[in-house]
Amino acid sequence: MARYTDAVCRLCRREGMKLFLKGERCFTRKCAFERRPSIPGVHPWKRQKTEYGRRLREKQKVKRYYGILDKQFKKYFRQAERLRGDTGLNLLLLLERRLDNVLRRLGLAVSVAQARQFILHRHILLNNRLATRPSILVKKGDTISVAEKEKSQNLIKQNLNANTDLEPATWLSFSEDTLEGVVLELPIREEIPIQIEEQLIVEFASK
Ligand code: SF4
Repeated sequence: MARYTDAVCRLCRREGMKLFLKGERCFTRKCAFERRPSIPGVHPWKRQKTEYGRRLREKQKVKRYYGILDKQFKKYFRQAERLRGDTGLNLLLLLERRLDNVLRRLGLAVSVAQARQFILHRHILLNNRLATRPSILVKKGDTISVAEKEKSQNLIKQNLNANTDLEPATWLSFSEDTLEGVVLELPIREEIPIQIEEQLIVEFASK
């Protein structure tokens, strides 16, 4: 499975905002964006802000925040277009429902990259069956739990202890006793904590 393997803090600096890709470090003074918020590269001031550039940046931002590559982005965009309603909103809500993102929202993983690793290493169950794909879209009523293995339980508990300040999304519930989360509702736009102008993404991708 293809994935981005270069330095992730560069992505935040490029997008001009914190994308929270490194877990705990993002909330400390070690955050690279806090220390150096400039665009990476030799002549960043030479980059002009065109309309095309603004749309491209918005698309890149959403891809990076949800940890997907171009091919997956196109697939989600086509799926969003087929749904009723606003394509940009549909796109965001589809991405929000990815299992790796849900683990991040529940506080089981400190970043989307770690969530993906947990799934691929078979630490996570969806509806009591091993989940093997980070891209699975959760549905209302789905349950997300942790495999019985001691290693899985310990890993998740460590993250829950580290994530004590996390405000759980209101469309999800989680019990720390059973380590089980439930999808109460499908997500809504207001629950997506990152600033994204989805209309610009639609303008970019519909060309
Ligand atoms: Fe982005 Fe986190 Fe790196 Fe800060 S520490 S630049 S928020 S990935």
